[in-house]
Amino acid sequence: CGIVGVLSNNQAAPILVDSLKRLEYRGYDSAGIATIHEDRLERRRALGKLVNLSDLLVHEPLAGKSGIGHTRWATHGAPTVGNAHPHRAAGVAVVHNGIIENFRELRAFLAENNITYSTDTDTETVALLAQYHLDAGLAPREAAEKTIAMLEGAYALCFLFDGEDDLLIAARKGSPLAIGHGDGENFVGSDAIALAPMTDRITYLDEGDWAIITRTSVEIRDETGQQTNREMKVIEISN
Ligand code: GLU
Repeated sequence: CGIVGVLSNNQAAPILVDSLKRLEYRGYDSAGIATIHEDRLERRRALGKLVNLSDLLVHEPLAGKSGIGHTRWATHGAPTVGNAHPHRAAGVAVVHNGIIENFRELRAFLAENNITYSTDTDTETVALLAQYHLDAGLAPREAAEKTIAMLEGAYALCFLFDGEDDLLIAARKGSPLAIGHGDGENFVGSDAIALAPMTDRITYLDEGDWAIITRTSVEIRDETGQQTNREMKVIEISN
């Protein structure tokens, strides 16, 4: 189970798959990526090893320079393509490691608003909630903030939004998450090893932190919503 996110100046799909390979040591049952291509979210998912996802991408390539990726270790819902991440609603895609403990309550809240789920995962509720807030007129970052505030449990999360080629929102509680700083590019990963080919400049999010990331900026907020600074470290990892 691993997470990656890229705001690159090169094609995102090969970077995402390569970064996920670097997280293979954690184990997983399925994998997937989503990118923004010509302002639209697109995704590909495959069961089993990453080679299955790579093969799928040969036949059904994903263009775009921004994207998120995931290797899943199923906790809620069988390992199937439909339960594989990224999960998405109309205008948002989400990757998640961990467990959303209150997903049943969140499903009930969504049901009251006539929003139905279509997978067996806890994670899908995060995408549906974000969409609910987008539909209420909130901008992506506010929609993500409101969504994160409703979650209980353990998570590393990364959000990607339709029409937003230069925005990732990442959040961490109970599962590690690192931001990698490039030159005119920025990255998110479960650990520094995932990002080693792109950068050695890493900021680990603290418990409860969430971050608004563009190609040229990283804004970190703590659990109370206050903007905060976390130390950037230069990590030595051999490629
Ligand atoms: N709980 C989520 C699921 O079962 C995420 C699992 C993971 O950490 O990969 O889909």
